[in-house]
Order: sequence, then C-alpha cells, then structure tokens
Amino acid sequence: MNALKDKKQNSNSLIIKNEISFNARAVSRGIAVGKIVCLHGRKRQFYKINLEASQIESELRRFRVAMQLAMRQLKKISSQKSDKIIETKVNIFDAHILILEDKSLYTKIENNIKEQKVNAEWAVKIVTDDYIAKLKSVPDEHLRDRYIDLEDVADRILTALGGGDSTLRLEKNSIVVAREVKPSTLIELTRSQPLAIITENGGWTSHTFILARELNLPAVTGLKKILRRVKTGDEVVVDGFRGQIILNPIKKTLQKYRVAAQEFDLDKPANHEIVKGKLKTLDGKEIKIRANLDLPKGYAQAKRFGAQGIGLYRSEFLFNQFKGFPTEQEQVEAYRKIARMVGEEAVKIRTFDLSVEQLADETEEREKNPALGLRAIRLSFSHLNEFRVQLRALLQASTENNISIVLPMISDVAEILWTKKLLELEKEKLKKRKIEFTNPRLGVMIEVPSAVLMINEIAKEVDFLCLGTNDLVQYMLAVDRDNEVVADWFRTLHPAVLRSIKTVLQAAERSEIPTVVCGEMAGSPVYAPVLLGLGATELSMNVNSIPRIRKIVSEIALEEAQEIVGKLDECRTASEVEQMVSEFYQNKWAHLFSNGVFPLNTNEKNKIY
Ligand code: PEP
Ligand code: MG
Repeated sequence: MNALKDKKQNSNSLIIKNEISFNARAVSRGIAVGKIVCLHGRKRQFYKINLEASQIESELRRFRVAMQLAMRQLKKISSQKSDKIIETKVNIFDAHILILEDKSLYTKIENNIKEQKVNAEWAVKIVTDDYIAKLKSVPDEHLRDRYIDLEDVADRILTALGGGDSTLRLEKNSIVVAREVKPSTLIELTRSQPLAIITENGGWTSHTFILARELNLPAVTGLKKILRRVKTGDEVVVDGFRGQIILNPIKKTLQKYRVAAQEFDLDKPANHEIVKGKLKTLDGKEIKIRANLDLPKGYAQAKRFGAQGIGLYRSEFLFNQFKGFPTEQEQVEAYRKIARMVGEEAVKIRTFDLSVEQLADETEEREKNPALGLRAIRLSFSHLNEFRVQLRALLQASTENNISIVLPMISDVAEILWTKKLLELEKEKLKKRKIEFTNPRLGVMIEVPSAVLMINEIAKEVDFLCLGTNDLVQYMLAVDRDNEVVADWFRTLHPAVLRSIKTVLQAAERSEIPTVVCGEMAGSPVYAPVLLGLGATELSMNVNSIPRIRKIVSEIALEEAQEIVGKLDECRTASEVEQMVSEFYQNKWAHLFSNGVFPLNTNEKNKIY
C-alpha cells in the first residue's frame, strides 16, 4: 500500500516520494544536476531577481529609461504608419501610446519594484499579468480584446529594458526552464554558464538547440506546461541523452546522476579520440568535414577536431536584437577576422537568415506563419539597403580570398539573378570609391522543394550548393521545425527527403559543382552514413559532432553506405526506411554504437545519438 502511495505513474511522469520524473525529448546530449531558474517573456526573456535595498534606486531609473525608449519607438512607428501597409480604423499604436501614458500602470510597476524589491522585468510582468487577467474576464468583447494590446506593450517595455545590454546573470549551477529559449537569449545566458536547458517547445533542429549542441549544453524539450509545475530554486536532474528530467531528486538519484554528470564532463568531444589526417572511408573515399559556426570563437576547437574550413557561417548572429543590423565596417571586420582565422580553408558566409520577429522595431507585424513568411533572402530583398550593405561588406572582406557567399532559402532562380545584379552594382560603387574587392564565389542553400525541382537551372547559376536539411525536412514535409507538437512528423529519413537529397547531389555532380551538406543531419552518427550513401562527400556540422563523425566515417565502407541507399526504393514510408536503416546498423555496424542500443527503434525515439 505504502509503495503504491509512494509511487504513481502516468503517461509521461513517474512520482516517487517528492521526486517526479518527466519524459521529454533529448535535443542536446549530456547530464546536469542543478537548480531551476524560470525564464519568462517572449521577446525579452527574463527571470525574477531579488534586489538589495541599495539597488532599488538604480532599478527605478532603469525602468524609467526603458519607458522613455518604448515611448520613443512607438511614436516613431505611429508617425510612419501612413506609408506602411497598416491602415486600420483603430490606430493600434496610438492605443499602445495611451497604455504607456497610463499613470496608474506606471505607478503600480514602480511600487512593485520598491515594495517587493524585485527587478523591473519581474515587476512589469506581475503588474501587466494582473491587468491582462482582469481584462480577459470583462464581458464586453471589444474591451476584452484589449488585453492583446497590453501584452504587446508589456513586451515592448521588457525589450526596452534590455536596452542593448545583458541583464541576465545566472547563479552558479543554474538550469534554465522556459517555454522556449531564443538563440539570442541563450547567447546572453552562456556568459554565466548555465548547466542545462529545459523547454516546453522546440525541435531537434531549432536554432536554440543547434547552439546548445555547439556549446555542449545538455537540453531536453517537449515538457508541456512545465513552467507551471516548477519554481525557481527547485532541484532538478536533466538527462540529455534519454530525454528525461527528474524534479526534487531523492538522495539515491542525486548520487547516481552526479556520477553520470562527471562522466559526461570527461566524455566531452574535446576528450574524444580524434581521427587525424585526410579522412577516408574504409574503402578509400575521401570525405571532407567542415564546421558550422554561429560563434566564431569555436573555430580553433573545430580545427583541432580536424575541420577543413567553415561550411556554414550564420552571419545573422552578428545581428543584435536591440541594436539592429551591424554597420558596413563592423561586418567587414567580422568577415575578415573569420576569414583570417580559417586561413587556407574556405569559409562560406551565409547572408542574414532572419525573420521579421527578430527585427527590433517591427514588432507590430506578427506573422501567422513565420516559417513561410518574410524571412531569409525575402527579408533581405525587403530591406534592400541593409542587404546591399552586407554584400558590399562581403565584397570588401573577400580580398582575403577564401570567402564565399551563400544565399538562404532560395526558391526561385530569379532571386539568384537579382543578387548577382546587386553584387555588380556594389562592385561599381566600390570601384568608384577606389575600395579593393575581389569576386567571391556564390552559392545557395537548397532547402525548399521548389529549389530541388529547379536544381539543374540553379546549378548553372552558382559555384556551389549548400544542402540545408533542417529546412528541407521542414518544407518538404510541411512540419514546423520549431514546433514540438509536430515533432513526430519531422522525419529526416522520409523517402521524399532522401530522394530530394539524391536529386540535388546528382545534379551538382552533373554540373561539376560541389555540394556541402550542412543541416544537422550531417553531424548525426545515424544520418551521416546515409548521406554518404546518397553521394555526399562534404559534410559541415556542429563543432562538437566532428570527432564522432570523423571516427564513424573512418570505420565504415562507402560501399556499405551505398547498400543502404540501394534498398531505399523498396521503402514507401519513413517508418520503413527507419526500420531498414536500424536493421542494417545492427547487422553491419554494431561496432559504431558501443552501448548496444540501436538508433531509430521506435521505443527509443526520445533519445539522441
Ligand atoms: C538548414 O536549414 O539545414 C541550415 C543549415 O540552416 P539553418 O539551420 O540555419 O536554417
Ligand atoms: Mg535553413
């Protein structure tokens, strides 16, 4: 009876005494034991900080400055509205200004900071949440809907509180829990070295988790409503291999995981055996391994691991959500710096792959389907000045000789032709200004079905291709890569995805241009051999994946990888491919998976390899 009382289980949680374990999805390997810090907010993410009495005055000042900034932004947008698309009867921005001018809101937030001795972000959240709850309960529909405006204003104040400088400072041993963590927030957070991340939302290929893997930060996702079940300060274990978290762990659990966390520390890629020299399969096929880089300082490590240059540099990480686009000079310097670091090996710099929501001052236009919206090359064309600045900066930095330009999310040959025209115009401009430049090679990301279908025409217009499998899976299968709810539909081994990859690789070969596969697939020990079988010879990946992939490539024969692909035509569904690949691995490549667990078993789907 007692045992029954002490141990309860439902579909995704198990309770023993106070200890509760939740099953989630592993998205970045590793084990961590620490204390929870709950992160809130959408645009500006924050958590509660208890202040000393001596800090209150400066916190109030920070709040007042943020309110002024938010007001300036709103007035600017409001004055621009006539030449923008928005011509609604109700002027939403004037309504937002009225909310900001509301004395009682202002005073309540100030009082909250003073009386509760908390940071401004927290006070804004508490006060506006209270207003929002009240508004949501009023019977008048029109008035009730005003809560959306209030949410927007609260977001704006919170963003303004960022003001360009980080306010996120974590205590030691913190484990961040959030609905989702934005990549920019994660970069801010890493300055105080969190131990792990737990989120409600996100997928394996979400940028936040790509970054977490680059930072060696264990992460699990898919824990619905977890923020309601935990509080800051709770002790938690994160198992980023199995996709599990254990809340309030009992002593025995803690002991077990502390040992596992130490083992994980020792087992970090930096301590792995590195296959040196030219990388070849057992039957002699040379494979090039390059690094995907978001944070340039990672290249030294990548080089130690045997990376041959950078296959994808995501330049959007230079974009600052508060300060906006980097200047021409800042970009020239950043690109030159990275080119020099890479030396003889090339760096492929992708032009800004941003979405509207990442642009600081355009928060008014929330898109319904951001993945299908104004982003990547489309956003660059709609911000032509900024795009031309970037192209000009790339042309100047290309005097370093090893820079190539990559255009994201190409869906039409016309986008390549327009960019080429812009490049010519910028070259003319530089010539007139007597500024040196060279002719960087131009490539495109292949990540949209229309690009796969037009691959022969595209290949004629570019010097190389980058296969972005993260987006290719997303767009080919119509599955939002950031949406945990549809994560089970994100099937990397779907026959349509594999056929597309094959089509692209074959077209590139016919056109005699190289293709680098740079989606997360390239860095996965499960998928990389399949890519080789499909014809890939260049894989670009997360720095931390390099040692494992080099080892795997050196331990398999290309002929075997091709054998898997040869069986693809027999498969009609993603499950059939997964089953076939899993069996093949068990029969032929048992040595690659030393723990005896074979990837892709359906009951193992929460795990990460
Ligand atoms: C991809 O889509 O596969 C890719 C490499 O780019 P990103 O993950 O930045 O969209
Ligand atoms: Mg992409």
